[in-house]
Amino acid sequence: MSTEGFKLTYATMFNPPEEMHIQFEAALVKVKAALGQEYAMIINGKDHYSSEKFEDRSPADNDVILGVFQKGNAQDADAALAAARKAFQGWSHIPWQERVRLIRKAAGLMDERLYEFAAVIAMEVGKNRVEALGDVAETADLFRYACDRMETNNGYVYEMGQDPLSGYKATNFSFLRPYGVWVVVSPFNFPCALTGGPTAAALVTGNTVVIKPASDTPWTSRLIAECLRDAGLPDGAFNYVTGSGSSLGQALIDSPEVNGITFTGSYDVGMQIYRDFSRGHWPRPTILEMGGKNSAIVSRHADLETAATGILRSAFGLQGQKCSACSRIIIEEPVYDQLVGRLVEMTRALEIGDPTERKVYLGPVANRSSYLDYQNFAEDLHQNGRILTGGKILEEGDYARGYFCTPTLVDELPLDHPLWQREMFVPISTIARVKDLEQAMALANNVAYGLTAGFYGNSDEAQWFYDKIESGVTYVNRPQGATTGAWPGYQPFGGWKGSGSTGKNAGGLYYLPLYMHEQIRTMVSKS
Ligand code: NDP
Repeated sequence: MSTEGFKLTYATMFNPPEEMHIQFEAALVKVKAALGQEYAMIINGKDHYSSEKFEDRSPADNDVILGVFQKGNAQDADAALAAARKAFQGWSHIPWQERVRLIRKAAGLMDERLYEFAAVIAMEVGKNRVEALGDVAETADLFRYACDRMETNNGYVYEMGQDPLSGYKATNFSFLRPYGVWVVVSPFNFPCALTGGPTAAALVTGNTVVIKPASDTPWTSRLIAECLRDAGLPDGAFNYVTGSGSSLGQALIDSPEVNGITFTGSYDVGMQIYRDFSRGHWPRPTILEMGGKNSAIVSRHADLETAATGILRSAFGLQGQKCSACSRIIIEEPVYDQLVGRLVEMTRALEIGDPTERKVYLGPVANRSSYLDYQNFAEDLHQNGRILTGGKILEEGDYARGYFCTPTLVDELPLDHPLWQREMFVPISTIARVKDLEQAMALANNVAYGLTAGFYGNSDEAQWFYDKIESGVTYVNRPQGATTGAWPGYQPFGGWKGSGSTGKNAGGLYYLPLYMHEQIRTMVSKS
């Protein structure tokens, strides 16, 4: 989104125009007035109800019921897949220019509804207001970027060479064509972008889609589905189902009706899906975007104020619950004490509370399970490391009914401790002191993940860093975020190793072809 020359991205969001706050607050009042309603799934263009329901509660105040959603089951999964199958012939055969038009229209509706979306996301996920606005604005840009790629590539139709056949003329074309029915399973932390981005890519390339959002964030995905419906997509082209991953989600994964899947979420669930989905009669495209254990390396030549600002934002933005969160901070010995001192000072100044409030930087963690995880990790770190700041939950007063945790920095944790390897997904970052950059790099790469990484140092060191680091997204000397803050068109997003399956980043040059298979069309006629 943009207001008067300001374009909101994760890198520009730290000082938004006043107007954004005014509009957010107005939308919040409107959204709060509608809390507690029941929302249906959308199958074949119609509202679809299930016999069982579940409540979506605010992580900032568990007494607040945001909405009541359908607890979809295996029959609902089948109904959604059947609707998507039925719609495929029609949707895949309309000219791609028309699909582009409809997806752009949906992006425009998202722009119009930006503030309402953001108010819902702030309450549903616990994102601060600017992060919530960013999630929506990014989604609309992902929609548009997918459309732009279709246009730039002329719908992915290319004329090839003509074979030299004496007495004949041969024309050869390469067409990329959609696979069929595509399932999108998304996580709670970017409920808009990580539902909307893959959905737009699948749709614009001609697949039909079944969306299954995280059980913590069904409302945001319902808003995306409404934009697609209101843009005029035909019935069944997209379908939105809600319910638990282990039943509804698993039923989708196990169905032979599915031709391709995009899953974004944890490593454990992603790898289980990878195995389960491979049991079909033939190999099917499986786009997995999974966890991260992202390092920022700081050299003795770094600008320490820039490093501290970038690291802080990436460690504790969205309470450490970004796949790109800076959960490991690796600092060369000569600048260690100075940088750590500054990080502790800045961390203590962060405002924690109701994420819809303007002054708040950290909201609650997303759910009870994350809240308990935080407490268990903190206890372990108290015993095995040195907690420099944080390490406790907040339970008094306004914090009593939410999942509030203090941002935590820890050092002196032995390098063979399992928490150097495990994605904690709460506001905890561990800090290591290293004698040189070689040791820093060995530590950064010694992990099963390869999502993002940051570096602070001089330009020669930066080239060395790019060459050696095993990560899909890398940043150097970035105050806006050491390891976080990718934006479509600028920093396509994806991971290596256990962070992703395709090696091609979302919102980037090579993403859309993942949703299509190639058909070569040769036509021979007598010359
Ligand atoms: P989960 O893996 O717990 O859940 C992700 C989605 O999978 C949810 O919709 C969940 O449904 C569903 N699911 C769970 N089990 C199954 C199953 N057996 N079959 C089908 N679907 C299932 O992740 P979180 O929601 O907790 O998200 C956090 C994780 O996502 C972190 O690991 C983070 O790093 C990663 N992530 C990766 C990104 C990337 O681009 N690489 C970006 C953002 C997050 P339900 O909620 O109902 O259980």
